[in-house]
Amino acid sequence: MDACIFCKILKKEIPNYTVYEDEHVLAFLDIFPMTKGHTVVIPKVHGETICDLEDHVLEKLMVGVKNTTKKIQDALNPDGFNIGWNHHEVAGQSVPHVHVHIIPRFNGDGGKGLHGIIKKDSDTPVEELAKKFI
Ligand code: 5GP
Ligand code: ZN
Repeated sequence: MDACIFCKILKKEIPNYTVYEDEHVLAFLDIFPMTKGHTVVIPKVHGETICDLEDHVLEKLMVGVKNTTKKIQDALNPDGFNIGWNHHEVAGQSVPHVHVHIIPRFNGDGGKGLHGIIKKDSDTPVEELAKKFI
């Protein structure tokens, strides 16, 4: 997509600090890192969310995430990672091209896990919700 900033990075119209690259994905340092080594991994085809991408693209994306994570582990030796993505604006997505955040975590860094993103109990009991998935 012409206006997509990550497509521009793929086309080398905008520079990046590459962490990992293969035929299917590019991983580069986030310009506003949450921790040391914060990296985003993007597929080399445009899609706004995972639901817009073909399964084979997503399979390659996940392999790219694994290889990037290993590379960061070797380079920076963090104690762990948060790995995930924001899906749509309400969840924090600002760039409409799928990107997986790899956020290295270090003991004592004061951050939280996924459960720290939001805590707003559903007013529908889990038993009721489960009926929607039958
Ligand atoms: P989102 O908020 O959409 O989940 O994540 C987008 C991420 O891309 C943000 O963490 C932001 O700092 C990063 N970002 C946005 N524009 C650029 C850019 O031009 N270069 C790099 N390296 N990162 C970018
Ligand atoms: Zn794009």
